[in-house]
Amino acid sequence: MLVKDYHGEPISRLGMGNMRLPTVGTGFGAPIDYEKAGEIIDYAMKHGITYFDTAYIYAGSEAFLGTVFPKYDRSKFKIATKYMASANPDYKAVFEEQLKRLNTDYIDFYLLHGIMTEETVKSYLETGAVEYFMEQKEKGRIKNLGFSSHAPLPLLEKMADHHKWDFAQIQLNYLDWIMQDAKGQYEALTKRGIPVVVMEPVRGGRLASLTPEIDAMLKAAHPDWSIASWAFRWLCRLDNVQVILSGMSTMEQIEDNVATFDNMEPLSDADAALLEQAADQFRNSISVPCTGCRYCCDDCPMQIDIPKVMAAYNRVKLDGMMGMMALGQLNPGPAACVGCGSCQSHCPQGIQVPKIMTELADMMKPRKRP
Ligand code: SF4
Ligand code: SF4
Repeated sequence: MLVKDYHGEPISRLGMGNMRLPTVGTGFGAPIDYEKAGEIIDYAMKHGITYFDTAYIYAGSEAFLGTVFPKYDRSKFKIATKYMASANPDYKAVFEEQLKRLNTDYIDFYLLHGIMTEETVKSYLETGAVEYFMEQKEKGRIKNLGFSSHAPLPLLEKMADHHKWDFAQIQLNYLDWIMQDAKGQYEALTKRGIPVVVMEPVRGGRLASLTPEIDAMLKAAHPDWSIASWAFRWLCRLDNVQVILSGMSTMEQIEDNVATFDNMEPLSDADAALLEQAADQFRNSISVPCTGCRYCCDDCPMQIDIPKVMAAYNRVKLDGMMGMMALGQLNPGPAACVGCGSCQSHCPQGIQVPKIMTELADMMKPRKRP
């Protein structure tokens, strides 16, 4: 198992994410399948994974891990968990509960969870939470203090500059490097000497298979590599990446990931160039090339904010439900389109806007349950 030094201690570069553990039944709130999830954790421990990530708000995850961890030497693995102010503002009570749930006296990597907006930043920086967690660090109950972020770059920098953080967790993969400015975020943290823990390295599974043509292109270069492994190999080129988290919910996933990190061949420069080409092709195949010029907007009889709809369309293609939520906030939305075609005649990118409006309006229609 590939390891990376962290202040003189080796930590596995592959981290076990525990948000998507196998469940009994399906649907939101389905309970964790202790037997199947236990087999996955056992496999992880036996194959050298030493970093286990969870959170107060991952349903049942901390309590489940608390039943498994006592089987193992506590000094040989790291627990990472998170506090989310919006879930419970009583940070002292939450921290005590987490220690109990996880059956431990200390947390190795503790995170303020999900920086996204000014409000989330305030909920940690202006409530005494950071000071309290710093006290816990002085007492040895927290070993490293950091934060996780989905925030835009200026807010991430504000957070990063507020405090001497030990690490930070961001969404980072070869697609978001350009599409979500993960490059800027990684560089901002690196410049400040903050090690990076990566979440969503395969974008919730989206990068485990691209398109048949692109997959074939990558397979032709390395027939033995899974498509998902390209994403891990790309991340291993980044020196300031400490841990790469993967939410592994089947034995097949963990076996593939462990095999990748056991025999890690990072991408060569030629491989990296090929992957960049693959990422470009993938982006073009799933998104419309709207530049936000707004040439189409003035003559829209329905006053639809067309570039916002195009941006939401791209998110729908990439993120599914998250994109649909962005779309649902637009008023007027795609359903208001009368198909006049004025926008299309103004669009320098040749985007077939009315067709996309129809596609989105159809997707947004409530479906009858069978
Ligand atoms: S086709 Fe739809 S989006 Fe385009 S200008 Fe007409 S009403 Fe607006
Ligand atoms: S004219 Fe085309 S590229 Fe410009 S904002 Fe409208 S849809 Fe986007």
